[in-house]
Amino acid sequence: MTYDHWIGGTSVPGSGTRLGDVFDPALGAVRRLVRLGTAADVDAAVRVARAAAGSWAQTSVTARSRIMFAFRELLVRHEDELAVVISSEHGKTLDDARGEVVRGREVVEFACGIPQLLKGAFSDQVSRGVDSHSFRQPLGVVAGITPFNFPVMVPLWMHPLAIACGNAFVLKPSERVPGASDLVARLYQRAGLPDGVFNVVHGDKVAVDALLSHPGVDAVSFVGSTPIARYVHAAASRAGKRVQALGGAKNHAVVMPDADLEFAADHIVAAGYGSAGQRCMAISAVVAVGSVADDLVERIRERTLRIAVGPGGADGVEMGPVVTAAARDRIAGAVERGAKDGATVVVDGRDLVVAGHEDGFFIGPTLLDHVSPSMDAYRDEIFGPVLTVLRVPTLDAAIELINANPYGNGTAVFTSSGHVAREFERRVEVGMIGVNVPVPVPMAFHSFGGWKQSLFGDHHIHGPEGVAFYTRAKVVTTRWPQVRREVERAPLAFPTVS
Ligand code: NAD
Repeated sequence: MTYDHWIGGTSVPGSGTRLGDVFDPALGAVRRLVRLGTAADVDAAVRVARAAAGSWAQTSVTARSRIMFAFRELLVRHEDELAVVISSEHGKTLDDARGEVVRGREVVEFACGIPQLLKGAFSDQVSRGVDSHSFRQPLGVVAGITPFNFPVMVPLWMHPLAIACGNAFVLKPSERVPGASDLVARLYQRAGLPDGVFNVVHGDKVAVDALLSHPGVDAVSFVGSTPIARYVHAAASRAGKRVQALGGAKNHAVVMPDADLEFAADHIVAAGYGSAGQRCMAISAVVAVGSVADDLVERIRERTLRIAVGPGGADGVEMGPVVTAAARDRIAGAVERGAKDGATVVVDGRDLVVAGHEDGFFIGPTLLDHVSPSMDAYRDEIFGPVLTVLRVPTLDAAIELINANPYGNGTAVFTSSGHVAREFERRVEVGMIGVNVPVPVPMAFHSFGGWKQSLFGDHHIHGPEGVAFYTRAKVVTTRWPQVRREVERAPLAFPTVS
């Protein structure tokens, strides 16, 4: 079966002939095919979205909110179905897939409050007989371009808010995990969203480039790797579009000597190997401060060896395969280079074979100790189940290490000291910080975003910054003079308050 585009409320094959393979990573076999959209397909979707955007923006804010409530209910009802599609194309476990649907749904719940979120401000009597009010209006057509690792949650960071704000949306999901977006499109239709307000164009660079240059696209939300985020930000900005582009990460967990080591080790293992390390907020660098290193590494090793690896859909499995054979080979190469550069391979997942799934894209959890900041194993975003341990003498040295890293997505500190936690959160140059919380993904009513090369653009995603990104402001200054017989002359000088 082939995944078609979804344009104007119906499935369409589009004009192209190129198809992409969609794998089941646990089997290492092609599961389905996906259309790889052309510039003409993008043009068709953007035209339909533009046509729908006008009347959608005129739909009352309460009606838009009610559609979000209905969509939210459908997401609850179809949670298992979505999780199965995610797991079979991405490889993550069913529990993990359900978790991403729930976290994405929270953005829909936030968007249900759109009447409150779009309430403007009013200032009475800013001058004698003059009032001011401000309000926000939608941009028109928003494009979303998303990565493979959260096929449902990351698109949900974007489209519910963009649509609730009154925009039409064109989603270009990752070509590696296209299935869930089709289901989401159908749920929107069942929730009562007018056809054309939500569209999906599948594809690769060709479709992305067509969106970035299309004059009918007003804004672009992108999430993916840093090189592509940088490219998307530059290309969309050049084309005069509003753009936010979230990039890659290298997330550090600092473990202080006063931390509960058992708690820290357990949470670091979950944060490093959950979803096979393919989360932008996964912990990849463990920074052991002072004397804790040997004890901490031993505890992480023990827990790592007990992780059940297998197909994401099977009972009892804690970690599935990675997304492609190329990803597995790249991750194995990073481990090999780390070992060559002098790191100690404490747990080696490279030779793992899962019985009955010999062709699956599996690599076991891997632990590298004695990693230094100059090694590629530290510098590269490995984006796989590899934890690297760096040893530093003090909290200051840990903060210095984090701040010297080009990424600034997430970080965490494990400590029992409020003073340490406060110093850490004030001094690290990172957008999202956890205190004894290793994966500090903000809730939907806050905004999500990293610093430095983890985000290009001015706005974080979803939450209040999402509302600001998907709308633009108007300020109106109003005077209703009483009709008088003798008209006062208006002065030509710049108006000042009186
Ligand atoms: P990716 O950058 O390869 O792909 C992201 C999107 O860009 C996809 O839709 C893809 O089709 C498109 N794309 C790929 N190459 C392109 C090119 N040359 N020109 C134009 N478009 C192109 O990312 P991925 O491998 O799918 O996802 C993993 C990456 O995403 C990791 O780096 C991870 O850290 C990052 N990520 C970041 C966040 C965040 O919030 N900062 C969240 C999730 C994932």
